[in-house]
Amino acid sequence: MTAEPVIDTQDSPTAPVVVPPTVRASLSPSRAADFKTCPLLYRFRSIDRLPERPTVEQARGTLVHAVLERLFDLPAAARTPQSAGDLVAPQWDRLVTEQPELGTLFAEGDPTGVTEFLRSATALLEGYFAVEDPRRLEPAEREALISAVVDEELLIRGYLDRLDVAPDGALRVVDYKTGGAPREAFEARALFQLKFYALVLWRTRGVVPRMLRLLYLKDAEVCDYTPDAEELLRFERTVVALWQAIEQATERQDFRPRPSRLCDWCSHQALCPSFGGTPPPFPATSAGDPLTDARSRPVVPGADE
Ligand code: SF4
Repeated sequence: MTAEPVIDTQDSPTAPVVVPPTVRASLSPSRAADFKTCPLLYRFRSIDRLPERPTVEQARGTLVHAVLERLFDLPAAARTPQSAGDLVAPQWDRLVTEQPELGTLFAEGDPTGVTEFLRSATALLEGYFAVEDPRRLEPAEREALISAVVDEELLIRGYLDRLDVAPDGALRVVDYKTGGAPREAFEARALFQLKFYALVLWRTRGVVPRMLRLLYLKDAEVCDYTPDAEELLRFERTVVALWQAIEQATERQDFRPRPSRLCDWCSHQALCPSFGGTPPPFPATSAGDPLTDARSRPVVPGADE
């Protein structure tokens, strides 16, 4: 098993990813978690690339992530609940301009719906301030794309919500969770994503992150996890095995449904045999280049709750 750095995001988070010629596929934590959760869900999202209309809950997650990212642009002393609240409406306007489909979530001429939506986003931000004081933090990265090559052929990459670096160099990966779904239904998936980021950081910086932190804004709770190198090595083998299983399933065009509680949040029940549906014919060719997987990022940032 080998790995080599692809990009060091600490100095240049937006620099283009340099992909070694041995690499022939890429995998994001979201897509890997899809396959682990349900192979058919992976197929619908990554091979058929079926569209998914964002839900109000996902849009709220996107908005809250955007506000928290911008909050750290302000001088430390100005990062107050009031400032965060003041960012909500302008950030929503920006998101709707950039992603017009978000604007269709609320019926035209229904200002009450939008007002209530913005108020609920502000309430989640209050949950954030209950668990952290951003005036005491200077994140090293926000919404940064990080990637590494494992097993010589597989590029693993994903977007970090936030990376904190302590004066002694210790890394803390922070992920904001804004979903209203029961936490136990998604906790394993969330931890899988954090370990994925930890693996990339370990492989690119040679440092195992000291802490992986989930911030549950709705419940105003913090969940910390401390990984170690041995665990990340096992995790790396799991990721490579997962990719091999995806390749095998693709070759056989065999992606089976795996029903679970997460089906309640799946957009594709109508096409799923577990719900009486029929998947579309398997695409003759993959809809996209696996190295430029547009779905590496959640459908909308922050929506992958
Ligand atoms: S409804 Fe459930 S079993 Fe079917 S594709 Fe979605 S997650 Fe998989």
